Amino acid sequence: MSLLYLCGSKIFMIQFILFGPPGSGKGTQAAKLAEKYDLYHISTGDLFRSETANKTTLGLKALEYMSQGQLVPDEITIGMLKNKISNLSEVSGFIYDGFPRTNPQAEALDCLLQESNQAIDLLLSLEVPEDEIVKRILNRGKTSGRPDDNDEAIIRKRIQVYLDETSIVFEHYAKLGKSRHINGIGTIEEIFERLCFELDQICK
Ligand code: AMP
Repeated sequence: MSLLYLCGSKIFMIQFILFGPPGSGKGTQAAKLAEKYDLYHISTGDLFRSETANKTTLGLKALEYMSQGQLVPDEITIGMLKNKISNLSEVSGFIYDGFPRTNPQAEALDCLLQESNQAIDLLLSLEVPEDEIVKRILNRGKTSGRPDDNDEAIIRKRIQVYLDETSIVFEHYAKLGKSRHINGIGTIEEIFERLCFELDQICK
């Protein structure tokens, strides 16, 4: 199913943010949603990890922040996202996973979309209690190979950064009536159904 939709004679792409704290299941759900709705999945965390694995200047710089559980500075992150998007063609919509994580990132994304007469359509925020998040990330750390998934102090730091710097992005889109909370507890399929229900509303 594609989320391209018609309004008058114009075709719009869906611009969708999957939001929530680290370990809330964004990556897993984004991959499933991207497949079902034919959306291009952009994960800034994955982009940084790929740069780091290739030992690029950007990747090595990003690693300094990632390994401490801190956010990579906005100008680096926004530049990387713009670069990625400008090199894509023939995409029927986007799912943003792990971006925007600050208000300046949200504003930069809004401006970028505005250049092509588009805007964020929907932000869905996965809600998961902190202790459950820590448990999930430590479990993921057994196989993910991510150093930031193996250290409880770094995990708690990432959650704190989410609360201090990222959670306000929900409000940015709530003011526009675009943000919704989703219960992030349950099986992967149960949570997927909840997300699909909301996405289906905007294609009606
Ligand atoms: P994630 O895979 O989304 O959990 O991201 C892993 C790490 O990459 C984060 O803890 C940050 O250090 C960095 N990162 C990913 N996305 C962003 C972003 N939008 N802004 C700043 N840092 C980011």
